[in-house]
Amino acid sequence: EQGLRRSVADYDMVGERLPVRALDAHKGSFGTVMAAVGSIPYTGAAYLAGMAAYRVGAGLVRMAVPGPLHAALAGKFPEATWLLLPHEMGVIAAAGAELLLKNLDRVTALLVGPGLGLEETTGEFLAHLLTGKSSKTARHPLGFGSAAQNHETAEHLAALPPLVMDADGLRLLAKMENWPARLPEGCILTPHAGEMAALTGLSVEEIQAERMAVAEKYAREWGQVVILKGALTVVAAPDGRVTVIPIATPALARAGTGDVLAGAAAGFRAQGLEAFDAAVCAAFIHGEAGLAASRTSAEASVVAGDLLPLIPAVMSLF
Ligand code: AMP
Ligand code: MG
Repeated sequence: EQGLRRSVADYDMVGERLPVRALDAHKGSFGTVMAAVGSIPYTGAAYLAGMAAYRVGAGLVRMAVPGPLHAALAGKFPEATWLLLPHEMGVIAAAGAELLLKNLDRVTALLVGPGLGLEETTGEFLAHLLTGKSSKTARHPLGFGSAAQNHETAEHLAALPPLVMDADGLRLLAKMENWPARLPEGCILTPHAGEMAALTGLSVEEIQAERMAVAEKYAREWGQVVILKGALTVVAAPDGRVTVIPIATPALARAGTGDVLAGAAAGFRAQGLEAFDAAVCAAFIHGEAGLAASRTSAEASVVAGDLLPLIPAVMSLF
């Protein structure tokens, strides 16, 4: 059984999973990504993630960012629409959750994490997003308590769009007590080894020594799709499927490349792919874009933004 469940990604396997694009499609056919991303210190992460979602085919990308990022990014990213969130010193404030939750109507994937920073107020934002309650009004700050409260929280979670959690979103999540119980079903979590260590309590060395086994174990335990990033990225599903992306290249060992991956995963998820397929497609195409970048450039010179125009080149090969 194990042999059937473990596989190595290639063009055929990924090509079979890519969304079909009908001739009479309209932008609504390809879903809407809402990206809760960015802070003043990490302005570029927001752009890299949002643009990657478009490049893999999402119909609309809505950028939910701290207000000041709009002026910095709008001219560079005319394809996006903007939801300006309340902020404290350029990081998303707790009150941003209420506004975001009111704007999820036609959203088909919600990306949370790239560039958020680790401020306490952003942690409260995430808690409110996942419980539907602000820490000011909830008796228990995370909305856990009585059976009625738990029921309300479960209903709230079930109504959220499919989630992709990355980067600081994962680190803020890891700080919450009993966090695996606080997520809706069908999430994609995209940790690198350091973030995986924060989520599991294992050391980075323990994770790197057994990447497949670790990804598989925690995907099952958490009931979520896990993309354990790095050379030979491992994608694992709660049902035991594990796919390795057979790509190792220092071209991708660069700030911002993870934000591109997270945006790509959200872009595929928004188009209706199931979480595991969206994760495999995103990780494979991201890796191939890294290889493509290093064909025309020194590996040392590749930056995350170089991947964005190469995603279309890779996608044209299917
Ligand atoms: P992050 O650490 O969040 O910036 O993400 C880095 C991205 O680049 C992830 O998608 C990694 O899988 C990828 N990556 C980093 N280093 C390598 C490598 N040596 N080989 C292949 N992919 C890599
Ligand atoms: Mg990252």
